[in-house]
Amino acid sequence: MTFSELGLRAELLSAVEAQGYTIPTPIQQQAIPAVLKGGDLLASAQTGTGKTAGFTLPMLQRLADGPRPGKRQVRALVLTPTRELAAQVGESVADYGRLLTLKSHVIFGGVGQQPQVDAIRPGLDVLVATPGRLLDLQQQKHVDLSKVEILVLDEADRMLDMGFIHDIKKILRVLPEKRQNLLFSATFSNEIQALANKLLDDPKMIEVARRNTTAELVDQTIYRVDREKKRELLAHLITEHDWHQVLVFTRTKHGANRLAEQLSKQEIPAMAIHGNKSQSARTKALAAFKTGDLQVLVATDIAARGLDIEELPHVVNFELPNVAEDYVHRIGRTGRAGSEGQAVSLVCVDEHGLLKGIERLIKRDLEKRIEPGFEPDPNAKPEPIENGRNRRGGGGRGGNGQKRGGGGQPRGQGQRRDDDQATATRRRRRGGRNSSGGGRQQA
Ligand code: AMP
Repeated sequence: MTFSELGLRAELLSAVEAQGYTIPTPIQQQAIPAVLKGGDLLASAQTGTGKTAGFTLPMLQRLADGPRPGKRQVRALVLTPTRELAAQVGESVADYGRLLTLKSHVIFGGVGQQPQVDAIRPGLDVLVATPGRLLDLQQQKHVDLSKVEILVLDEADRMLDMGFIHDIKKILRVLPEKRQNLLFSATFSNEIQALANKLLDDPKMIEVARRNTTAELVDQTIYRVDREKKRELLAHLITEHDWHQVLVFTRTKHGANRLAEQLSKQEIPAMAIHGNKSQSARTKALAAFKTGDLQVLVATDIAARGLDIEELPHVVNFELPNVAEDYVHRIGRTGRAGSEGQAVSLVCVDEHGLLKGIERLIKRDLEKRIEPGFEPDPNAKPEPIENGRNRRGGGGRGGNGQKRGGGGQPRGQGQRRDDDQATATRRRRRGGRNSSGGGRQQA
């Protein structure tokens, strides 16, 4: 199957060719004709499947045929959970639409709103936004959503995880009733199902295989190691194997900062990226990482979500995630677009339950290794896992012990994945939001 067989117009086919794509991915093969027909879509797909082009290409084609937007009006609205994903979707819209005369813009919190207000004023064909900032601008009447023809909810599960459901509901209330709705989500919780039932009219359902549950292109290895030796082992592996461009996952923002500092001290250039960092710090770190100037990027799950770094050779789980599905998301950062990747997890005695949950989810046993010089103590006793604000042994609601964290069970209420998320939850409970939208959890 080729892109031209999917019914795309010449300008879009040229843009696709310029990107170097020759064959549509499975989700593109199904989504493009469905969206072109104008119906609603419910797609189960995660980053790495080509979903962005899957909705952007047909969306642009539909918009190219219609009337221009009026002042402050928006014709297609794409909502994303994080600033990084918004920026990446915005880039795709600009890339694929470069031969069409459509206007698009990206908005998110944490940066000044005036340039965004100025960009929206003449009207936009496509607005890519995170929910908080969009709602702020809508409430200030800087954007008119009453003429939206197409709504895309990208990574809807993450938006709900991050507490955006109330903002999304408020946004839905100001959209016109008649519109096309496209919902993308990696997982289908009851909450997502409820949102889909409310939002979608007789949707076409698309489900593409999770690329990395088979993970044919990702070489996955577990290193058993003592908790206290992980940092030393990571530095050793990076130096010994001469790894460049290593994306390292930690469970907490605090852990990400600490690890980045410690690696830098050992002359391994590293930076942390998470929700507490300013937008400019995050953009700078990501840019340096992409060009290869920065050897190691340390990230929490939420911050890393949506980062589109192609052909990333190495992903390291410095700590296993509390939710088994996040392991699949994490290793999805490597071996993308046909390139081979290596995923390494450093696992201590505290994490054996989490490891079992992951192996159950991906339906295979992972290869376990012990690096000479880093042999784990066979008598080591498991300790509760440090999680978010509540440090090991700190009591309270944290201390996510093995029983609770292990087993790859679906993410339940009150089960925290990361202190990024804890921040979002706390804000949601307080109902607080500052007027700039920057106080909202967006990454
Ligand atoms: P996404 O799932 O939208 O984040 O896309 C994942 C990656 O696949 C991006 O780097 C895209 O540039 C790339 N991609 C999208 N469609 C194709 C295609 N048909 N062929 C090759 N690469 C693609």
